[in-house]
Amino acid sequence: MSRKIETDLAQQSIGEVTEDQNRFSAKRELVISFLWLFTPVSIVLTSIFYIFSSQTEKYELQTAMIREESALNSASQLTSLIFVQKLSDLFVLAEGEVLRKYLHNENLKNWVSVAREFSLFARRKPKYMQIRYLNDQGMEVVRVNNRDGEQEIVPRLELQNKRNRYYFQEAFQLSPGAIYISPLDLNVEKGVIEQPTQPTIRFATPVVDGYGKKRGVLIINYDPNEILRRIEQIFSGLVGQGVMLNHDGYWILGKPEEQLWGFMYGREETFRSERPDVWSAINTMESGSFYSEQGLFVFQRTYPLDLARQGTLENIEFLNNPDHNQLGKLYWIYLSHISKSKLDELTLKRLFVATIAYLLLFIVSAMISLFFARNAVQKKLAFRKLEQFAATDALTGLANRRELEIAGTREFHRAQRFSRKLSVLMLDLDHFKTINDTHTHTVGDEVLRHVVNLLNNVIRGQDILVRYGGEEFLLLLPETDAKGAQFLASYIRTMVADEIYEDEHSVVPVTVSIGVSTIDDGDKSYHDLVVRADLALYQAKRTGRNKVVVYDDSIAYIRQPQ
Ligand code: GH3
Ligand code: MG
Ligand code: MG
Repeated sequence: MSRKIETDLAQQSIGEVTEDQNRFSAKRELVISFLWLFTPVSIVLTSIFYIFSSQTEKYELQTAMIREESALNSASQLTSLIFVQKLSDLFVLAEGEVLRKYLHNENLKNWVSVAREFSLFARRKPKYMQIRYLNDQGMEVVRVNNRDGEQEIVPRLELQNKRNRYYFQEAFQLSPGAIYISPLDLNVEKGVIEQPTQPTIRFATPVVDGYGKKRGVLIINYDPNEILRRIEQIFSGLVGQGVMLNHDGYWILGKPEEQLWGFMYGREETFRSERPDVWSAINTMESGSFYSEQGLFVFQRTYPLDLARQGTLENIEFLNNPDHNQLGKLYWIYLSHISKSKLDELTLKRLFVATIAYLLLFIVSAMISLFFARNAVQKKLAFRKLEQFAATDALTGLANRRELEIAGTREFHRAQRFSRKLSVLMLDLDHFKTINDTHTHTVGDEVLRHVVNLLNNVIRGQDILVRYGGEEFLLLLPETDAKGAQFLASYIRTMVADEIYEDEHSVVPVTVSIGVSTIDDGDKSYHDLVVRADLALYQAKRTGRNKVVVYDDSIAYIRQPQ
């Protein structure tokens, strides 16, 4: 089909119509090749975007979970690390020579040595608020208070009996070498919660004398504020709202002051009562997350001596003691709550970014596709133009003999296969040499164009006009019998003779001789028709010019002897 179009194009003298058609088909081809390139790209892009956007919420939930988990985990590790360091101090004092000596001989001199050692120790450890030795009756024997950098050895008369305090009872019943760690609470002095509140945690271990007899308990009150501040710092980096809970669900950090330490004031309100669903999840897992209408809760239970418990630190030997089971019961909870609205906000933000990225990619890939499509079309057009040049004659814009070969073969086969008619006119301008000689070669060229114009005006769409030689033309006439061909030939002859060429300087009458041939059963190719038309043309020239001769066998006879 494209061949047909090209031939048609070739037949029109190259002018505006051809340009317009080229432009139109270029536009169409651009659209087509653009769509070819861009459609798959945009489908892939859109699918990726669709999958991404449908997964965003889930993804956001997961990343939030991972982020929070790792923050809470680092809080937990930090806590454990700080606590484990305190253990060595406890044993250094409990097993030290000075206390041993006092237990052996409880005189004033030895008492003073112990008090001075505790005091010296306290000076280097500002976070140890109290260092005490209590005897087997729960009576404070040596007590050093350590506040604001001042160490105070409490006079013996002011010492108190702590027999009924939980920490004494718990610690004294342990076997030697075991550690007791109290729950985290607020310091109470003489039955009253100290104000401003002072969080406290107690480390204790039984003290034995030189004979291995348990004689009392060594207790250090530790000020955990540094830990609490560091945990607050970690909380501030959370996506959600961080809170610290004790094992009963009371808030220790992350709420307004009046809601903290509820157990010290006998309050009922706890996280446990506020969110029983989350609480039960916390109780079944050491760490994990819980998703509900209220959003995402990520939590981590923390055992203050977790690192030691796992045997990762040097204090392992102290912890082989079976009494350390109690350490597993003491824990608190770090929890982060990301509300539903916060999650939605994060999801939307990500979706927004994704949408922008999608649109940008869409536009960019459309531009790239357009670029490549344009390139491809330009190449194609250039190629087509080249083909057209190769197929047409430069002077007249007509198809040349190369083109004739293709069209002639095609038309001949078609006519044969479907038993259709096919005729050939062979035209030659009369005395053209004389025209050139008389009016110059340039005018000769114009006369040629003039004749071609005349011919173009009378032929039909399917007819193929070829510049066969210098001033010779061949007209291939599909679906045309001898009669029709003869009629057309006569018409052409008269027209050429009538339409005299004229320009500013010259008037050039021109005539044409035409040989006509029609397809015959014995023909093997269109060449046979061409040969016969040529013979007829020769006959026309021989018998006077400016005439039409239809081939018949007598012509062949006449031609033969020459
Ligand atoms: P006849 O009637 O026997 O055909 O005489 P003629 O002069 O036309 O025939 P001949 O074959 O002797 O000369 C053809 C001339 O056509 C010779 C050549 O100079 C001229 N010619 C061929 N091609 C072109 C062309 O493209 N432009 C011009 N101006 N002249 C051409
Ligand atoms: Mg000639
Ligand atoms: Mg001639």
